[in-house]
Amino acid sequence: MASDYPLYIDGEWVKTDETLEVLNKYTQETYVNVSKASENDVDQAIAAAESAYKNDALSPYDRYEILKRVSELLMERKEEIADIITIEAGKPLKQARNEVDRAAQTIEISAEEAKRISGEGIPVEAAPGSENRMAFTIRVPVGVVGAISPFNFPINLVTHKVGPAIASGNAVVLKPASNTPVSSLKLAELFHEAGLPKGLLNVVVGSGSTVGNQMMQDSRIRLYTFTGSTEIGLKLKQDTGLNKLILELGNNSPVIIDEEADIKAAAKNTAAKSFAFAGQTCISVQRIYVHEAVQQEFQDYFIQAVKELKVGDPADPQTDVGPMISEEEAKRAESWIQEAKDSGAEVIYGGTRKGSVLEPTVLTGATEEMKVVCEEVFAPIVTLLPFSDIKQCIDEVNASPYGLQGGIFTQNIDTAFYAAKKVEVGGFMVNDASQYRVDLMPYGGVKNSGWGKEGPKYSIEEMTEERLIVMNLNK
Ligand code: NAP
Repeated sequence: MASDYPLYIDGEWVKTDETLEVLNKYTQETYVNVSKASENDVDQAIAAAESAYKNDALSPYDRYEILKRVSELLMERKEEIADIITIEAGKPLKQARNEVDRAAQTIEISAEEAKRISGEGIPVEAAPGSENRMAFTIRVPVGVVGAISPFNFPINLVTHKVGPAIASGNAVVLKPASNTPVSSLKLAELFHEAGLPKGLLNVVVGSGSTVGNQMMQDSRIRLYTFTGSTEIGLKLKQDTGLNKLILELGNNSPVIIDEEADIKAAAKNTAAKSFAFAGQTCISVQRIYVHEAVQQEFQDYFIQAVKELKVGDPADPQTDVGPMISEEEAKRAESWIQEAKDSGAEVIYGGTRKGSVLEPTVLTGATEEMKVVCEEVFAPIVTLLPFSDIKQCIDEVNASPYGLQGGIFTQNIDTAFYAAKKVEVGGFMVNDASQYRVDLMPYGGVKNSGWGKEGPKYSIEEMTEERLIVMNLNK
């Protein structure tokens, strides 16, 4: 089978014999075939990255200019790239367009950060016997960055890895998700066009168990930046020894609706943020804890807002909820609904599946041990859970092994601050749902949700080492 998209290694487009079929996730028809990387291709990509890093061809200003150009190119090709995302990920077009806007911003922020990487003065002369010394630190790149990305944001989560890595003088070997490799190859095209020297970005396509695994075993890679499931993140942490790591993992986001909230606004907000990209975002609302005093009112407004969501073909610009990444995943989600029903939960909206499209589904009467509550559902399913006491509610929120982002709706400042201090997460929203992210902010979870932060400024801290320089002065 001919390959429509070759790999990108050492500044060259490399066609291979073996290909990977990428499906249109809505129609399930073949979209394109992409070259698959062999062991030798991965080895070449890592060697090219190491050599390009050592070559140290770009000044910080050069990196700024290249990244700025890539950001512009992303905006110029916005429609083309949004269409790719819609087809290969099944993401509704309006959300795909938004993702391209955000990717352009992520790269632009990375460009700006390239000019701000600095160390600090260290007052060593204050130590007795060191009076004639002066010291400062500089930040140096780690070398080769191994980036492994998930399917759900095929361009923006890739720019969160490639942008900061290039901005800070590293070289990258990128393995995109097998479901969505085309967006990454497009991004490589833009870097090529923007004049990135060869070897600084390499894209190798292939399964996690082959290409991903090989990358994990290669000691030339000095830092791994991984976004994906907690299961694979844990494996990466165990397998990569003392190497540096950034892990952005799963979550089952909680949102609290306090009795003193603007209930109608809260319902509208959480409904939109529970089902975007069919619930397949890591900060999608999953558990909604509603104060019993406002439970019925919230539920009525919430269902009303869910009914307004348009479900179906992701290529239709009006669609809010499209297919899941595969029929298999939609069936898995459906079986979790069934398990909850069998154990006493009630489906008060949705619950039906057609192929890979699962209707937005709302459950009540679920308990903590049901999968739809305690695990990451990663599907268009939310559960409404009643509470009467905020302290007890937060204990239930924190019973989750995850802790990426959460939120509370309340007009009471004391309740807001109390929750912000007590809920165990990396980011907490007041009067907004868990699903809030702009690309300059520090982003990353606690507990099983991750290790290290993303956001260009924060990734650059992880992707550089602090080096101390001490001057022994004679005068
Ligand atoms: P996934 O199955 O863990 O895959 C993520 C990446 O890891 C893919 O490129 C995958 O390759 C690769 N991989 C799989 N097995 C591997 C192995 N043994 N060694 C090395 N790499 C391996 O996750 P996903 O289904 O694509 O994405 C959904 C998950 O990502 C959810 O849990 C979600 O919460 C999480 N996520 C977290 C964040 C965050 O910022 N915290 C953001 C987005 C998504 P293949 O595609 O070839 O299998």
